[in-house]
Amino acid sequence: MLTVKSFEFSPIQENTYILYNEFNNAMIIDPGCYFDGEKETLADFIDKMKLTPKMLLNTHCHLDHVFGNKFVAEKYGLTLRIHEGEKKVLEFAPASGLMYNMPFDNYNGAFDFIKEGEVIDLDNDSLEALFTPGHSPASLSFYNKKDGFVIGGDVLFRQSIGRTDLPGGDLDTLIESIRTQLFVLPDDTKVFSGHGPVTTVGYEKRNNPFLM
Ligand SMILES: [Zn+2]
Ligand SMILES: [Zn+2]
Repeated sequence: MLTVKSFEFSPIQENTYILYNEFNNAMIIDPGCYFDGEKETLADFIDKMKLTPKMLLNTHCHLDHVFGNKFVAEKYGLTLRIHEGEKKVLEFAPASGLMYNMPFDNYNGAFDFIKEGEVIDLDNDSLEALFTPGHSPASLSFYNKKDGFVIGGDVLFRQSIGRTDLPGGDLDTLIESIRTQLFVLPDDTKVFSGHGPVTTVGYEKRNNPFLM
């Protein structure tokens, strides 16, 4: 079973997720820790829970989701896993950071690219990489069928959807991604978004004004 722990980091209020299992092995998704104190908060949780981080994943590579990539990769000896189509987004993130007055050191290690539909295993648990572009050119949503949740990045929010005005964004593509990749999941599937509170597929089908 995977337990989902979330943190809200940076002035952009991004949700960082640690998923961990009964063997204390963990995956870190979208580490948005910007300030040193936030990096400590993340590391302290991992220490306190005696977790071993085995994987570092990004749903997509907008700056708020990648601030802590370098810290996590170096501290735990991990290789960043993203969809190849997000590499150019990651390369642009430091310039974007300067525009937002939030300079940071970008991840500069190797990549382990994730293909759409790929199943990522952590012991007895797995995440399926659903291809959900539209907010970002190659956003992935990580679906765990067994425990009924998806880590969706900035694709779908509680009663809202991701912005589509950034490079590589497209509204029709985003709506299509939500309808064909997320709204086909069981209604009680929890959606852990990149910002804001957790929601469910069923709740968004009934209450999301962008998808009615
Ligand atoms: Zn984003
Ligand atoms: Zn975001």
